[in-house]
Amino acid sequence: MADCLFCKIAAGEIPSNKLYEDDTLLAFYDIDPQAPVHFLIIPKQHIQSAAALTEDDAALLGHVFAVAAKLCRDLGVEEKGYRIVSNVGEDGGQSVKHLHFHVLAGRSLAWPPG
Ligand code: AMP
Ligand code: ZN
Repeated sequence: MADCLFCKIAAGEIPSNKLYEDDTLLAFYDIDPQAPVHFLIIPKQHIQSAAALTEDDAALLGHVFAVAAKLCRDLGVEEKGYRIVSNVGEDGGQSVKHLHFHVLAGRSLAWPPG
């Protein structure tokens, strides 16, 4: 989608600090990390947010969570734990309108979130 930051990152038109890539997904480190480990997983396909997901996206979502688990294992944060978050809309705090999953780890995370 034109003028979408994460579509441009997925297409390699804007550089990112890449962790993982395959045909459908890209994982890269967040530019403004909120924890010692903070990366994003995005589908390469433009989906506005989690609110736009349907039953047809079941395989894609399973893949997102499997990749998140593998990357957390590889980064050595599996045992201590981590958080996967997807912000939706204004009240959810979504600033980039392309579906993404934050993966945060490396410190004890507060709950409830602010
Ligand atoms: P959200 O506020 O949930 O929409 O999350 C968007 C995230 O994208 C924020 O945590 C930003 O720090 C991050 N972000 C914005 N631009 C970039 C970029 N060029 N590379 C990596 N992360 C980015
Ligand atoms: Zn996009």
